[in-house]
Amino acid sequence: MSERQDDAASVCRSCGACCAHSETWPRFTLESAAELDAIAPALVRADGGGMRCIGNRCAALTGEVGVSTGCAIYADRPLVCQDCLPASEECRVARDGIGLPPII
Ligand code: SF4
Ligand code: SF4
Repeated sequence: MSERQDDAASVCRSCGACCAHSETWPRFTLESAAELDAIAPALVRADGGGMRCIGNRCAALTGEVGVSTGCAIYADRPLVCQDCLPASEECRVARDGIGLPPII
C-alpha cells in the first residue's frame, strides 16, 4: 500500500513522522537572524542550533503522529522542514520509522 504524492498536503497533516524522527533533525542551517527571531525562544533548543525536542519529537509539533498533526510555527519553520517533501528519502525513512508506508 502507498500514498499518492498529489495528495501530499493532506498526507502530511495525517503524518508528522519527520517532525518526530530525531532530536537532531530540525536544526537551523541558513536561516537569517530575522527568520530565527520569528521562532519563539521556548521552542528553540538550549544551544540555539535548532528546534527544541522532547525525545525525538519537535516541541512545535501538535497533535498525534500518524493520526492528525500540525506545526505551531508553520510559516516560520526551519529550512530543513520546508525542504522535507513527501516522497523524499527523508520522508520515506521517517515514515518507515513509525510503520507508515512510503509515498510514491
Ligand atoms: S514524513 Fe513525509 S508525509 Fe510525513 S509529514 Fe514529513 S514530509 Fe509529510
Ligand atoms: S518546526 Fe514544525 S515542521 Fe519543523 S520539525 Fe518542528 S513541527 Fe515539524
